[in-house]
Amino acid sequence: MSTHQEFAGLRALVTGGASGIGLATARLLAARGAAVAVLDRDLGGLPGELAGHTADVTDDASVVRAVEAVGVELGGLDILVNNAGIGAAGTVADNDDAEWHRVLDVNVLGLVRVTRACLPYLRASAHAAIVNTCSIAATAGLPQRALYSASKGAVQALTLAMAADHVREGIRVNCVNPGTADTPWVGRLLSAATDPDGERAALNARQPLGRLVSAEEVAYAICTLASPLASATTGAAVAVDGGMQGLRLRPS
Ligand code: NAD
Repeated sequence: MSTHQEFAGLRALVTGGASGIGLATARLLAARGAAVAVLDRDLGGLPGELAGHTADVTDDASVVRAVEAVGVELGGLDILVNNAGIGAAGTVADNDDAEWHRVLDVNVLGLVRVTRACLPYLRASAHAAIVNTCSIAATAGLPQRALYSASKGAVQALTLAMAADHVREGIRVNCVNPGTADTPWVGRLLSAATDPDGERAALNARQPLGRLVSAEEVAYAICTLASPLASATTGAAVAVDGGMQGLRLRPS
């Protein structure tokens, strides 16, 4: 099998696929032969060649509707990329209950809702794989990221629990843990700074590689885990952080 068309005949759904890491993943899966559908609450940035379904992962009814439409459109589903997510800054003292519920509802329960809706399709696939977009925040102990870290810690724990629950059904479950990736999300954070260019230079300088990770580099790892060629890999967390964790470095 050619690794370049390794997804030929397979059908994939990418949540949060209209921007950043999700969009790069949808593009790479399609380039490698998959039939791809995107689920996003805002399809504004989606190029015309990708099929999009508007749904908010915090709204179970909209998720169920979108996943059913994707199942009909693609004739089933083999690969689910749970990528939709939002950020949050601050210590435990800085966010009130409403903010905790809001972020966990997207980053944790959103993943649960989409997975629940997709499982009947994945069980019917001969090459079923789920890849969750986690973060180094799950295990790095980053300052000023209590809520976000808790949400991504739950994503990593869920990845392992789901991998255990579904291994005998032939569904593999893995996650990728990006460091700071150069996506519209990070662009928005930087443009809000008083000196965006200086902030970007400082951020680049703090990375072991001397630069941020690209959305395409994260997408490559997601596709590697989703590939039918990775048929014995499940319950894994793959860092795409330029060495931030493995080299035991910390953002200063
Ligand atoms: P992004 O903002 O560019 O893209 C996120 C996409 O998710 C957007 O299209 C957005 O509309 C969609 N989305 C958000 N909330 C949604 C909801 N409730 N329902 C449906 N869609 C929703 O961000 P990105 O940087 O590409 O991040 C993608 C994932 O990568 C997230 O899970 C994020 O936590 C993770 N991540 C990002 C970085 C980084 O530095 N960019 C680092 C580690 C992990």
